[in-house]
Amino acid sequence: MDFSPSPKATEIYHRVENFMDDHIIPRIRQWNDEVHAGIFPVSFMDDLKALAREEGLWNLFLPGLEDDDPGCRLTNLEYAPLAELMGRVHWASEVFNCSAPDTGNMEVLHMFATEEQREQWLVPLMNGEIRSAFAMTEPDVASSDASNIQTAIVRDGDDYVINGRKWFTSNSAHPNCRILILMGKTDPDNENRHRQQSMILVPLDTEGVELVRNVPVMNHVAPEGHCEVVFRNARVPASNLIRNEGDGFMIAQARLGPGRIHHCMRAIGMAEVALRLMVERSQERKTFGKYLHQHGVVSDWIGRARMEIEQARLLVLKTAWMIDNAGAKGAAKEIAMIKAVVPSVLGRVVDHAQQTFGAMGLTPDAPLVDLYMASRALRIADGPDEVHIRSVARQEIKASKDDFGLSAKYLTPPDRL
Ligand SMILES: Cc1cc2nc3c(=O)[nH]c(=O)nc-3n(C[C@H](O)[C@H](O)[C@H](O)COP(=O)(O)OP(=O)(O)OC[C@H]3O[C@@H](n4cnc5c(N)ncnc54)[C@H](O)[C@@H]3O)c2cc1C
Repeated sequence: MDFSPSPKATEIYHRVENFMDDHIIPRIRQWNDEVHAGIFPVSFMDDLKALAREEGLWNLFLPGLEDDDPGCRLTNLEYAPLAELMGRVHWASEVFNCSAPDTGNMEVLHMFATEEQREQWLVPLMNGEIRSAFAMTEPDVASSDASNIQTAIVRDGDDYVINGRKWFTSNSAHPNCRILILMGKTDPDNENRHRQQSMILVPLDTEGVELVRNVPVMNHVAPEGHCEVVFRNARVPASNLIRNEGDGFMIAQARLGPGRIHHCMRAIGMAEVALRLMVERSQERKTFGKYLHQHGVVSDWIGRARMEIEQARLLVLKTAWMIDNAGAKGAAKEIAMIKAVVPSVLGRVVDHAQQTFGAMGLTPDAPLVDLYMASRALRIADGPDEVHIRSVARQEIKASKDDFGLSAKYLTPPDRL
């Protein structure tokens, strides 16, 4: 495995870094001020998107596989450091048309949609003209097991009729959100519980689709929304189905692979910001005659943060390499591992940075509360830690069956008398 960046990736990295330094980081305050004043999308977003596109820093996440595929032809390994840079400011990915949940949705459309569906939805998404959302989780069932999903998608002539209730449909309150990719059941009685689900495209303005509330996360209302959405006899053309009835579970698995690694790449960038803040603050303030970093415990936090971030980054890069070389399925174990490892690393680093900052660490004057919320949410969003750890354990146990009994060679109990 070689993680050294290609010349092309190095060149793009420096351009994204310069763009972040010149256009994004100087606007952090303005973004906060406008959003707090109820201005969303912020006034400069379209201009920044246009500039990024003009500079070719656009749709960087989408590896093109065929000659006529859209995307910038970067591998996941090449994209990882770019996503890390974007992760340093939570709204930066949108500027480069690389933000969740659009990226995952674009990949679904890229991989599975018909020509007409691509034309209608993938093209405007790739152009950054519209935004999208992904509606899988439901308040009434334990959604970490997606086979529990209840929303009904029933064929009726040339249409499908949808009834159900979703929540945490992230991005659905964004003023530019036009389309939902919804997962529901077309065949609830199928004996194979992974063939009961389908995915379907639901325009947000469909009659019978209602955003009933923007659910606050950790008591914070995100302007783009994690909405509760009700579907009451919402009728869409049958041609809105993505691939075939029964393919929903398979598509969800394909979608969540790259989506999970993108979150983790960005989370490494967030952890770097928290560490940098901790390092600088600890050299500026003194207590009991010493700078904060001269107290052993703070120095321990800094050292451990650096070690944990490096470990997490290496696992992210390995996972990206695996996806590039073995596909999302072949990288399933690595994807599960990073999804469980990285948010916890981020949470620990941010927690210590907050402690180092004292009271200011809990205020909006520093980005640490937002970073902490991101780390906490990521331990649940896209599947809770426990489900990913269980998946790693299962794969470990399955792999042991190939040469079961190996451990006996290491054991030397005394002969029984
Ligand atoms: C900020 C945020 C954004 C989100 N965005 C979206 C989105 O855009 N679209 C969408 O569809 N969903 C979204 N989600 C929802 C998220 O994917 C679900 O919350 C998650 O899959 C868990 O489902 P649940 O909340 O129903 O928890 P449940 O399934 O009820 O699980 C509760 C808890 O049970 C435990 N548990 C579950 N299974 C196991 C197991 N096998 N072993 C041990 N413990 C277990 C875990 O601790 C888990 O947290 C988002 C969530 C958050 C927090």
